[in-house]
Amino acid sequence: MTKTRPTLRDLTSQEYRAFLFPNALAGLTVIAALLLNIAIDPSFFSAEREAVIVIALGAAIYIVVFSFYIIPIRKNKDLLIWMNSVFSGAGFWALAYFLQDNLMVYQNLLLFVSVTSVSTFAGRPATWTMILLASSSHFFFHPEVLATIIEWVRHLGAPFVAILIAETAVRIQNISRQQIHRLETVNQFSREIASILDRETIIEQMKVAIPRAVHADSYYISVVENNDAHLLLCYDDGEYFPRRVIPAGGTLTNWVVQNQKELFLPDLRQPINLEGVQHILVGKEKTSLSWIGVPMISPSFKGVIALASYQPNAFNRGDLELLSSLASHASMAFENAARHAEVEERARLDSLTGVFNHGHFLTVLQKHAADSLAYQSPLSLIMLDVDFFKRYNDTYGHLAGDAILTLLCQTIRRHIKNADAVGRWGGEEFIISLRNTNAAQAFVVAQRISVSMRKVIIPGRDGTEIPSPTVSQGIAVFPSEAGEIYKLIDLADQRLYVAKQRGRDQIESVTSDGADAIQIQH
Ligand code: GH3
Ligand code: MG
Ligand code: MG
Repeated sequence: MTKTRPTLRDLTSQEYRAFLFPNALAGLTVIAALLLNIAIDPSFFSAEREAVIVIALGAAIYIVVFSFYIIPIRKNKDLLIWMNSVFSGAGFWALAYFLQDNLMVYQNLLLFVSVTSVSTFAGRPATWTMILLASSSHFFFHPEVLATIIEWVRHLGAPFVAILIAETAVRIQNISRQQIHRLETVNQFSREIASILDRETIIEQMKVAIPRAVHADSYYISVVENNDAHLLLCYDDGEYFPRRVIPAGGTLTNWVVQNQKELFLPDLRQPINLEGVQHILVGKEKTSLSWIGVPMISPSFKGVIALASYQPNAFNRGDLELLSSLASHASMAFENAARHAEVEERARLDSLTGVFNHGHFLTVLQKHAADSLAYQSPLSLIMLDVDFFKRYNDTYGHLAGDAILTLLCQTIRRHIKNADAVGRWGGEEFIISLRNTNAAQAFVVAQRISVSMRKVIIPGRDGTEIPSPTVSQGIAVFPSEAGEIYKLIDLADQRLYVAKQRGRDQIESVTSDGADAIQIQH
């Protein structure tokens, strides 16, 4: 628990006064009734009468001052609470000493009034201390009345009711504290993840928020994709488990995702009557006896947050609600992160062909070059340009031109590895980075691209087939030919120019005796 739970002690002075007002009024009324009773009761001895009047008036002043001026204003409430218990206890002792047994009803009423207010802000120990002090005075000064069972019951009745009042107030307060804690947990979590746009950081935040919100032996976050449950976070019995993928079929997770409903299983020893569910363990080989799961549903993914315990009936509806709130905030955050990643990805790509744009290609090339130096492996760069593309556009139309550029990129991708990169350098000019590839290997790749492009046929405006234009390519190798990426690009560009000059539809690369153009063999 990182933050102490809020209590009634966090109220403002005004709120305190408003809260204590009815109790103070009730206390004063009881005191007034006691004084009235003494005034009209001739059987009361005069010496005791004065003492009781003094105590009653003292109590009235104490109630007003304490309720309206001390408790609402003073900072150190812990000390005040204990002082109040001791003072009140002493007051009850004094009253019991002078009060006749037939007037003890006033002491009891005062006790009930005090307990009602004290139990709400002082908590259990201080309230019980006050009850104990007040009641013991009773028995201490009037032992003679405890001769019969009925007297015992009559005298134990008051402390019993006082305890009942105190317990009810303390329990109601605990429930409201728990509710406040839950709200705070959800608020804190939503504040923390509001600005996070990265899925991993959201998961890290959930790793903190879930145990802060609910106590559980195990918990996990799972995303269901194509019938697989991807466990993004899995904690069981004090340990975090590595991510893994399990078949989603038959799992409680799958049930929650499919039905988009919360699932509350208080006792797993009872048979589970859920369609298609077999019980599947995710953490240690220990059987969970209670389980709750809530869906995380957003347009881009479907997942579950689940908690489990080795004890039956470990969770309640409040835990389920809290988890549900966390899940809906987490779903929104995951969705935002997914959209952000999508936008970032789109910003890196060329919209027509889907290959990297100029800027992003340079970033990737920097990284490839750094790796090439680190691993001492060559990197080859191909600069590729479509031949007479202007004429092609003019003849077959811009749409056909666009289609050719898209098909060209698909062809390039088919001939390079996933670790390689292709970018649109501008117009109909493309640039390819081939990792761990020497000049000879790069030449083979370039040749395959040229050959494949010749086979690409696209339908024209009137349904006739349009032949594909040829391409010219220049190859340069890092770091043997150029130790810096801009020089490398420039060298590949110069070789592309040479290929163009020599008649197009060819690859210009390096040979042992210097740069040489190689005509493609068709
Ligand atoms: P060369 O063989 O010397 O490269 O001749 P070229 O006609 O291919 O070269 P030039 O630079 O003269 O013309 C390039 C043409 O590419 C001009 C432009 O209209 C066209 N182009 C550039 N981007 C696109 C595009 O996105 N779609 C289409 N359809 N055409 C484009
Ligand atoms: Mg061209
Ligand atoms: Mg060009």
